Amino acid sequence: MRPSFALIDLDALRHNYRVAKRLHGGKALAVLKANAYGHGAVRCAQALAAEADGYAVAFLEEALVLREAGIRHPILLLEGIFDADDLQLAQGHDLWMVVHQESQLRLIEDAARATTGAAALHVWLKVDTGMHRAGFAPEQADAVHARLRACRNVGEITLISHLAQADEPDQPATLRQIAQFQAVAQRLGCARSLSNSAATLAWPQAHCEWARPGILLYGADPMPQASHGLRPVMSLESQVFATRILQPGEALGYGARFVADQPTRIGLVAIGYADGYPRTAPNGTPVAVDGKPARLVGRVSMDMLTIDLSDLPEAGIGSAVQLWGPLVDINQVAAGAGTISYELLCNVKRVPMIYKD
Ligand SMILES: *Cc1c(COP(=O)(O)O)cnc(C)c1O
Repeated sequence: MRPSFALIDLDALRHNYRVAKRLHGGKALAVLKANAYGHGAVRCAQALAAEADGYAVAFLEEALVLREAGIRHPILLLEGIFDADDLQLAQGHDLWMVVHQESQLRLIEDAARATTGAAALHVWLKVDTGMHRAGFAPEQADAVHARLRACRNVGEITLISHLAQADEPDQPATLRQIAQFQAVAQRLGCARSLSNSAATLAWPQAHCEWARPGILLYGADPMPQASHGLRPVMSLESQVFATRILQPGEALGYGARFVADQPTRIGLVAIGYADGYPRTAPNGTPVAVDGKPARLVGRVSMDMLTIDLSDLPEAGIGSAVQLWGPLVDINQVAAGAGTISYELLCNVKRVPMIYKD
């Protein structure tokens, strides 16, 4: 059997959720969109079930997977509903929804006119405080809030906004977003939610009733200086399955991107870009071999990649290789590959997921 897998440490996930709760105070929706950033949404939801205040996913279909698995917690749809069918299903499955634009508000108003039922919808009114992607302008918020209040199918209303640059310490734009948000919240007097992972970790001014931590749950610290002892949840693991010595002047792999300048012992590792390891990772990207640091050399192929074992004479066929996890910082891999930990984690595929609970 191909010795490649993603090991998911559910204890680390619970640890990170507790870090978020302790730092932020109040309640925290564990963000499980994109199949829990590639970690398996159902397993992660189950692992957190005893302590999570609720979950957040991007859209209805992601929430239904959790409901079908028996998850009864509150689940927020961060993008809200796309059409009237979504609204009906969301209502039927007791899902909370963001309302960030006029068309969604109209769908709720239309349903309100058609219903005689209870005011059961928990709506999260999204204001745009500076991200300029989704959300009502702050000066529209009062009118939208009043329209929602007038809907007999709407119960609770929570105010939500999203920060664009919370992962940049001392960024004044974040302070401006926080101030905008608090001004609207004060006028409307409803419960609030502003903090993603970065704000949970680094912007106490943004903390309020509800946090929405995502990436931090998976142990990838979004701040430039990691802190707070987050534990990586995923270890992407494989093995060396062949070795060879390159002579000076010999090139390695596609594009001859690495050329040996001295006798170089190469290990062939059974994982590639079809498994989600980034093809853009450059020569020198860190890996760990039997727990010791080593580096990627040559271009990443679809099913395999190559590493330099010259400094590890005891390593050979069968040696364990960690591509990221507790021994290899995913942020370093991501930075070299020109992306962020989020994308690497979401892209993991083809390898089996093994859960440690
Ligand atoms: C994805 C998402 C989050 C979580 O973001 P992280 O940076 O992963 O913590 C929070 N809020 C919204 C609206 C999101 O879309």
